[in-house]
Amino acid sequence: MMQEHYQPSAIESKVQAYWEKNQVFKAVVDANKEKFYCLSMFPYPSGRLHMGHVRNYTIGDVIARYQRLQGKNVMQPMGWDAFGLPAENAAIKHNVAPAKWTVENISYMKGQLKSLGFGYDWDREIATCQPEYYRWEQWFFTKLVEKNLAYKKVSAVNWCPHDQTVLANEQVIEGCCWRCDTPVERKEIPQWFIRITAYAEELLNDLDTLDGWPEQVKAMQRNWIGRSEGVEMQFGIKGRSDKLSIYTTRPDTLMGVSYVAVAAAHPLAQEAAANNAKLADFIAECKVMGTAEADMATMEKKGVDTGLTAIHPITGAEVPVWTANFVLMDYGSGAVMAVPAHDQRDFEFAKKYNLPIKQVIGAADGSEVSVADAAYTEKGVLVNSGEFSGLSSQDAFHKIAEALKAKGCGQIKVNFRLRDWGVSRQRYWGSPIPIVNLADGSSVPASGDLLPVILPTDVVMDGVNSPIKNNPSFSDVMFNGQPAQRETDTFDTFMESSWYYARYCSPRSTEHMVDPAEADYWLPVDQYIGGIEHAILHLLYARFFHKLLRDVGLVKGNEPFKNLLCQGMVLAEAFYYENENGGKEWVNPQDVNVSRDDKGRITEALDKTSGKTVKGAGMSKMSKSKNNGVDPQAAIDIYGADVVRLYTMFAAPPEQSLEWSDSGVQGAQKFLQRVWRLAYELISAGDITALNSATLSPELKAVRRKVHETIQKVSDDIGRRYNFNTAIAAVMELLNTLQRCEEKGTEQGRAVMKEAVEAIVVMLSPITPHICHELWIALGHSDVLSAPWPQVDESALVRDSIEIVIQINGKMRSKIEVAANADKDTILAAAKADEHAQRFLEGVTIRKEIYVPGKLVNIVAN
Ligand SMILES: [Zn+2]
Repeated sequence: MMQEHYQPSAIESKVQAYWEKNQVFKAVVDANKEKFYCLSMFPYPSGRLHMGHVRNYTIGDVIARYQRLQGKNVMQPMGWDAFGLPAENAAIKHNVAPAKWTVENISYMKGQLKSLGFGYDWDREIATCQPEYYRWEQWFFTKLVEKNLAYKKVSAVNWCPHDQTVLANEQVIEGCCWRCDTPVERKEIPQWFIRITAYAEELLNDLDTLDGWPEQVKAMQRNWIGRSEGVEMQFGIKGRSDKLSIYTTRPDTLMGVSYVAVAAAHPLAQEAAANNAKLADFIAECKVMGTAEADMATMEKKGVDTGLTAIHPITGAEVPVWTANFVLMDYGSGAVMAVPAHDQRDFEFAKKYNLPIKQVIGAADGSEVSVADAAYTEKGVLVNSGEFSGLSSQDAFHKIAEALKAKGCGQIKVNFRLRDWGVSRQRYWGSPIPIVNLADGSSVPASGDLLPVILPTDVVMDGVNSPIKNNPSFSDVMFNGQPAQRETDTFDTFMESSWYYARYCSPRSTEHMVDPAEADYWLPVDQYIGGIEHAILHLLYARFFHKLLRDVGLVKGNEPFKNLLCQGMVLAEAFYYENENGGKEWVNPQDVNVSRDDKGRITEALDKTSGKTVKGAGMSKMSKSKNNGVDPQAAIDIYGADVVRLYTMFAAPPEQSLEWSDSGVQGAQKFLQRVWRLAYELISAGDITALNSATLSPELKAVRRKVHETIQKVSDDIGRRYNFNTAIAAVMELLNTLQRCEEKGTEQGRAVMKEAVEAIVVMLSPITPHICHELWIALGHSDVLSAPWPQVDESALVRDSIEIVIQINGKMRSKIEVAANADKDTILAAAKADEHAQRFLEGVTIRKEIYVPGKLVNIVAN
């Protein structure tokens, strides 16, 4: 017997137990059924779900459940991006091993996900810190080394000289070590790289095939890959036989070069420093951090003359070679040609060190150009450029490239901003890099017994070095009968998240990294959902990995994610006290009692504990720094999962920011209570006769039309537009119509109500699955997961009468109801007979009568 009142606590755990017992979300390959692979970005097991997770995973679950109701074979897996720095930090802080901390967090968060009723196939659960997972990544990496797609190179890291350890970027606070506050240095150490640049062109071009991705994300990826066309050329060096290789995207400015700048780490600079103390000091200074690429634009440009002279490849003119802090060895060749008149950075440097500034580009329209106070960076027409003067920048690009080519010292070259992916991390909590370092200094991929390399988990973190470093029991191995050392660096955790989507297809396979048959059925991911903060690195690396997996025959297709949805942020009101020093002490919104006026503006905010007034700082992203995170668990405990799910889907369209509001959550609760009550009243009143749609009264006909209009709108909003909020609003409107219906107690009224309530239950079931499961059974059916999606009855949409607007001389004067099949003459006659219209027609002559079918009549009279 159905309960009279909606009690989520009584039904949600019961329904979840039913799903689990019947394994309803278990996904199995079925060649006869169209598949739908729905994936939300897996969480880092930080300890508790935050509201952003709840939003992300609700969107994914609604889409998955909707597709299932469309008859698709849906797979929706979930797992854990389990390696990473926070586990190490927690280990140091709480003296618990990272593995134990991670496993406990996973267990708690998994319970939270289950309590929200997400329809995951838990048999496919993955935790990336498990050897069963990362062993495949190690195996794959050895293949990449064999294919020369992974290589070792000396590269700079953040180094704390006091702790003698490498620091992650997050561990460098204002240029100093987070632990001991010692200024951080750059240190060059050997590290492993994956050759993503070999796929740069394809990664760029294939973006054009991703019609289901937001333009914004594709633009960010294009920009990151950064394809440019330019010229690579060689400057001679006076008195030497070697050359200085330089790349520029502005060869049209070549005749304006007044110096050449090289990186501090450039071999020429290093060599020149041997007998130049000033230069040696400068190079040492550049080694200290603060020269991250992001700082380059704003930092003070500094340099020292190397004393060397470069020779211009066309004119043979001699220009000085400087070492400059704004040139990085990691980018291009580590040397740039400087054209101060047409590059602002070069201009500032030239002004500072009194280097010549020579204008070689004039405005295309012939107007005056000055390079006295700033560089002129536009393209235009060449001036002061000898044989090239008068050419446009575009023509000069090719003419100068040809001239360089003829002299054998240059050519057109496509360049990418994208760098190879450095995957070495000197930290502990990650997959060990499967490399063996031999006594002779060479490195080889681990193989045979040495693979996989299992990370020891029973460790004590001393807070300085990774426990597998300086640890002979981990690193000492025999290789080909010779003593050797394991690599003690671990992989960047982006490695694990780059292929997990493919592993879900065959998560337990001990034969394959990815079972090609399973992957062939499930891939690509039909819908991927996650935050915009992953728009560049994660999505680029995953696309890259997919192409790598394709090239070894493990997957088909060129792209992993067919459609991408980036959900907006979750915002909440932030509150604070001002302390004596004028600083702000933030109070969590859950600890504040807020009163509002009828426009929703805050009139009073009081700290629940102290009773004191706090100030509102407006809506902002839920964050630790403003202490305005709302714990979803509290809302789930009070309102139940369905209310929280409904609210997160109703409060905003998925791509936009969601402003958390307690009153909004209460509104969602009231709505579900109304749905329940309507169903209860209908069901508890006894048997319902069959619907006879041909003989309905005008009111019931109108109600039924509203039902089918709603079905039409909701199907389109959810299925095509992903506008869940407007779909919910349409159901709310329908509910109002049903409650107002005066004939809902009559025999046919109850039949119309039943049709309406059943449609509502199925349409809401992707969003609020627990209550809908319960109501569907109460309505006499079995499992709402296998219910048919309601279909629009076109005949119900037909109107018996239509409303016609009457205009006199273009102004609306009245409205009339006419039979839907009335002809033009009947309608014109009815319009002229209308009493409101007649008041305007008295004493004038009708000149013209216009009828817009189904809409309006316009009578022109004077
Ligand atoms: Zn330190």
